[in-house]
Amino acid sequence: MSVAGTVRGRVVGEQLAPGGIPIERLAARVGSTPFFAYDRALVTRRISAVRAALPADVELNYAVKANPMPALLQHLSGQVDGFDVASGAELRHALDTPVAPARVSFAGPGKTDPELTQAVAAGVTIELESTGELARVKSVSTALQIPARVALRVNPDFTVRGSGMRLGGGPQQFGIDCEQVPAMLATLPDPRVEFQGFHVFAGSQNLRADSLCEAQRRTVELILRLADAAPVPVRYLNLGGGFGIPYSSRDVALEVAQVGDNLEVLMTGLVRPTLPEARVVLELGRYLVGEAGVYVTRVVDRKQSRGKTFLVVDGGMHHQLAASGNLGQAIRRNYPIAVANRMGAGPTETVSVVGALCTPLDLLGEDVELPVAGIGDLIAIFQAGAYGLTASPTGFLSHPAPVEVLV
Ligand SMILES: *Cc1c(COP(=O)(O)O)cnc(C)c1O
Repeated sequence: MSVAGTVRGRVVGEQLAPGGIPIERLAARVGSTPFFAYDRALVTRRISAVRAALPADVELNYAVKANPMPALLQHLSGQVDGFDVASGAELRHALDTPVAPARVSFAGPGKTDPELTQAVAAGVTIELESTGELARVKSVSTALQIPARVALRVNPDFTVRGSGMRLGGGPQQFGIDCEQVPAMLATLPDPRVEFQGFHVFAGSQNLRADSLCEAQRRTVELILRLADAAPVPVRYLNLGGGFGIPYSSRDVALEVAQVGDNLEVLMTGLVRPTLPEARVVLELGRYLVGEAGVYVTRVVDRKQSRGKTFLVVDGGMHHQLAASGNLGQAIRRNYPIAVANRMGAGPTETVSVVGALCTPLDLLGEDVELPVAGIGDLIAIFQAGAYGLTASPTGFLSHPAPVEVLV
């Protein structure tokens, strides 16, 4: 295979024509490079596949921070059961869609009083991260004369193996340590708060079905123990998610069917009999949209340096930080990459694709085998649908912002 646009031997071919439009033509239609294109049909197909794998009574939320593009949220709003937001601005975007406020949850440490006010006024569920936050929610409720819908985000007493990022277990800024939860529940019978249930989100970017299954089992067992002390029957149980997607040729795609089967066992054996009123929710970000996006940038220079060939493009890490290796913190691996207007054409060569920024960290593809390309050719970087533009340092070097399109 002469194209580096592969994930475990599989060409990321569908992303070469987002919305069925070849990237070269799409670039002309967009009018400028660099740009991000998200494929609505791929998102739809992914959601159908996840739903087919999950028990029918498990709901599917979208975690907005993975990609908050308003048009994408509108598209998703008809297909997911709710949105999980993490800021006041994300909350407004979620409320701009037809999704009901009761189906929106607001998690995250450091929610400000203005954000809590927005959330209580809108009637969304606030996922409490601390006792201090609960006290502030009560004040907001008093001021607005509206009871607040709250759930407790629990920091479990276990960690999830295999997560690319851990957000649970040990000391955390996220959630309330499970050993503190009974005391906090005792303060909840209060006219200012309507207790909904529990939320656990312990890790992100996990490709291992066995460890996700174990995390879900331990989460359910933990919540069943905590639910004994709840002031009212549990109506809401958010089990998090953390489903990963493959980024490099070493990554193996998640077996989502295995996770779904495990969840069915947990629902049948534990959740439905014990918490019959609970709406059970999975919240996924990356898994729903990550593979549906491509970042397209154009070659502006081609140069040789001491035996190495560089393609210099008009984009870079300021738009797609993750593909560059996240500021050098992670072991850098190449994301799938291709010359979008030369697929399968002509001789190939080994090149490094670098961005326009004045730092050696701005590296989009290192020693990748690509068809010979030159000035004006289009470089596509795949798996760019989640944690792309809004997770990148767009102000760095003051280049213009890229366009985003949903096709
Ligand atoms: C970021 C986040 C998610 C989404 O994580 P993904 O790995 O993108 O699925 C879900 N829930 C919470 C609370 C989050 O902070």
